[in-house]
Amino acid sequence: MSGVNGAGRYAPSPSGDLHVGNLRTALLAWCFARASGRRFLMRIEDLDRARDAGAATRQLEDLSRIGIDWDEEAVLQSRLGEAHDAAIDQLDAAGLVYECTCTRADILAAPSAPHAPPGAYPGTCRDRSDADRARERDRIAPRRPALRLRVPTGMAAPEFVDRILGRVSGEIDDFVLRRGDGTVAYNLAVVVDDAAMGIDQIVRGDDLAPSTPRHIVLQRLLELPSPPAVEYAHVPLVLGASGARLAKRDGAVTLAELRADGASDAGVLAMLARSLDLASSGEQVNAQLLLERFDPDALPRSPWAWPGVVNSATS
Ligand code: GLU
Repeated sequence: MSGVNGAGRYAPSPSGDLHVGNLRTALLAWCFARASGRRFLMRIEDLDRARDAGAATRQLEDLSRIGIDWDEEAVLQSRLGEAHDAAIDQLDAAGLVYECTCTRADILAAPSAPHAPPGAYPGTCRDRSDADRARERDRIAPRRPALRLRVPTGMAAPEFVDRILGRVSGEIDDFVLRRGDGTVAYNLAVVVDDAAMGIDQIVRGDDLAPSTPRHIVLQRLLELPSPPAVEYAHVPLVLGASGARLAKRDGAVTLAELRADGASDAGVLAMLARSLDLASSGEQVNAQLLLERFDPDALPRSPWAWPGVVNSATS
């Protein structure tokens, strides 16, 4: 992987403080980028503005506390609205956008196409006439229709080779580009923003791997860089005591909470490093040392079970 002119990124949603799972993914994204000579950028995914309340600033502080650095001021996704609108207009001009008035319940109740993945959009609104569409718009007022991508029939299911997961492929449905409340959907924003920021390496939690085929379809339709020019690595998540993805309810999981319990930032970094086989037990490390040891091919492939043990010697 040659990344000399490229960039990696971490793109947190400012929904609260980052927990150790988020910190671990961020650390990996940073290692992947820096170890391949790429720049590293931050994007705050704040399209759902109600959620912020200062969380973004605290998230960035926590990331730098464990030694992650980045090359430009963090980008706020909400500032990229014009680029999102332009992308939707471009797709619309090519006949690739349609209005959808279905509710979640409508979608669940509709018969699904054979072989469609569970929850896939059944295409109810895809082929409506203009008159039908106008009637539908009136029917749901004051609610407004969502906008969906009309995935061209016969478009090959996208496939990519992930640095961790290997070959990934997926059927895709006509997914939402803009919700009825006007908010741009993650799947559209992420593709437009990564291209606008010159990102050619995307490292994120493996819960997002099933979304990536959608992103690749959009990259192709919008004529943006896509794999193999863009590299993907979906990294294993951290699981809480119940075996489900780690969440705030799993106890002390944020840096501030761990500090309150007596851990130091260096102690948390050492624990994350051990979970990635980048440090031995009791060893004190810094981010630079992790970078020297980092080998994408040697990363643990299975989820990490929290609670880890914060090294008291370094706390
Ligand atoms: N904002 C997403 C999250 O916090 C990550 C999106 C991405 O990395 O593509 O889960």
